[in-house]
Amino acid sequence: MREGYIHSIETLGTRDGPGIRFVVFMQGCPLRCKYCHNPDTWRLQEGKKATIDELMERIVKGKPYFQRSNGGVTISGGEPTLQFDFTLELLKRCKEEGLHTAVDTSGYVDRDKFKEMLEYVDLVLLDIKQIDAGKHQELTGVSNERTLAIVDLMEEEGQAYWVRHVIVPGYTDIEEDLHRLARFLQDKKYLERLELLPYHNLGEYKWQELGLKYELTGVKPPSKERMKEIERLFRDYGIKT
Ligand code: SF4
Repeated sequence: MREGYIHSIETLGTRDGPGIRFVVFMQGCPLRCKYCHNPDTWRLQEGKKATIDELMERIVKGKPYFQRSNGGVTISGGEPTLQFDFTLELLKRCKEEGLHTAVDTSGYVDRDKFKEMLEYVDLVLLDIKQIDAGKHQELTGVSNERTLAIVDLMEEEGQAYWVRHVIVPGYTDIEEDLHRLARFLQDKKYLERLELLPYHNLGEYKWQELGLKYELTGVKPPSKERMKEIERLFRDYGIKT
């Protein structure tokens, strides 16, 4: 019986994909985003152990709700591709139940491995944290090369995906970078929409609890007006937000 480490679950999620969703937040993440609001997901062994059967029992109970709302199951994290075999099996089992499946990933995963997963995924929610390679490295601790390769993969495979981009004032809201991201996304055929998410600092206390230094203290969430302006910028490139 396959076991995995999970951080938590949300039974009636509305933010991670279409409709009402059962969201499994997997434990473990290879990134170290400065704005992470769940640093308690980072270390694999600190998660709770769960089996596929336990999760499926709960998922199947909610199936009528998910299906009535055109929702389904989203596997998020942390980084769900880190516990690759567990996530893959969970996705397979969800598809056997006829459920809509989504994976919320930073794209920091080997392209060929991720390709194996796509057969069981209806929608990929891909977080592009920064289009600029150097700034991405600085913001997350890793390169964005793999993430951008995942965009190519999805285009080649005809895989439906949404891109998510967190707007962090001073880090990811720089005009030049936003235009660059818009130019990168503008001709993508299988990109269904871009979700622009405002930075919030609600997870700051977790950094303190874990004894970690939060570098974004004092950074304020972007205003509604600024978010609207950024949405307009992308729409002007013909990108659906
Ligand atoms: S990818 Fe997500 S969970 Fe991982 S560090 Fe970044 S924000 Fe946190």
